[in-house]
Amino acid sequence: QPELSGDFAELMVWADEVRKLGIRTNAETPADAAQARKFGAEGIGLCRTEHMFFEGDRIVAVRQMILADDEKSRRAALAKIQPMQRQDFVELFEIMAGLPVTIRLLDPPLHEFLPKTAEDMEEVAKDLGVEVKEIEARAHKLHEFNPMLGHRGVRLGISFPEIYEMQARAIFEAVAEVQKKHGKTVIPEIMIPLVATKKELDLMKAVVDQVAAEVSHASGEKLEYMVGTMIELPRAALRAGEIAETAEFFSFGTNDLTQTTFGLSRDDSASFLEKYQQRGIFDHDPFASLDTEGVGELIEIAAERGRKTRTGLKLGICGEHGGDPASVFFCHKAGLDYVSCSPYRVPIARLAAAQAALGGALKTE
Ligand code: PEP
Ligand code: MG
Repeated sequence: QPELSGDFAELMVWADEVRKLGIRTNAETPADAAQARKFGAEGIGLCRTEHMFFEGDRIVAVRQMILADDEKSRRAALAKIQPMQRQDFVELFEIMAGLPVTIRLLDPPLHEFLPKTAEDMEEVAKDLGVEVKEIEARAHKLHEFNPMLGHRGVRLGISFPEIYEMQARAIFEAVAEVQKKHGKTVIPEIMIPLVATKKELDLMKAVVDQVAAEVSHASGEKLEYMVGTMIELPRAALRAGEIAETAEFFSFGTNDLTQTTFGLSRDDSASFLEKYQQRGIFDHDPFASLDTEGVGELIEIAAERGRKTRTGLKLGICGEHGGDPASVFFCHKAGLDYVSCSPYRVPIARLAAAQAALGGALKTE
């Protein structure tokens, strides 16, 4: 894995002396987390746990869980994944060695987990002990025309609380194990995605609190943790004042916030955007660099309303914009605590944060 060295490493030390923004990374694999640390990341700002569900046999168990029609079968499928998920977290906590780790609970568009081939259908049917036809019907029922605006994020947690319960258990058991082994407190930041209302967060926080109490009792470990939310829907930004009654931190998911503010698909917009840029409607791709006006105003509103409710509310950004220099400038001005970006963008984010703190104009050449 590459490391920073020589003059560049020294420049980074100077940058760190002046910047106000913390720099975290988006990482879910041990390799990415270790690489980001080498580049100077001060924590994980986003661990997307759904990526951990695609590996090896896990996807098979996830399909069973999604297509089971009763809680008992769902729990049986989840029980197969839980030890692996717990091990994922043990490794991440060990690599991050006490630095903050924000773990986002499951947020897939559901279609990514549905069986795609006839063999997949047959396998699930066999595992669940039902007819293939029945599985096809269930999969059909779950089909959505707009999965990115559908049954994802916290909505999955509300429909199937046992998923978030399993993940919370994996997190807390990993914390207990690492605390026992290294004798140091680990404080995970558990993040709920795609929240629009305080009530969604209240219901999911209750699940997390319950599991924490159970694991603490069983392991004899004192467990400290934070529960927060992503702000990635305009409604969440506008209702940030009441959401902050429950949320202990906010992280701006500006990929979705850009998508939902503009009503512009983050997956399909390339050719459309080119015309807009040619005709001078957009001067840049808002998914690459933050729209500091519209999306930016929602961030400012959420920051202000959230902090009015909860003084010192911790604020970060974990959309792709977190590693874009112009967006980092905006985050500095908006008073965020940290930006989180992919490992290879950590050095540029450190530099941009320093430049912003020095009050200079953005220079990217
Ligand atoms: C976001 O929406 O900005 C975000 C970080 O979440 P994801 O990209 O996983 O939807
Ligand atoms: Mg998102």
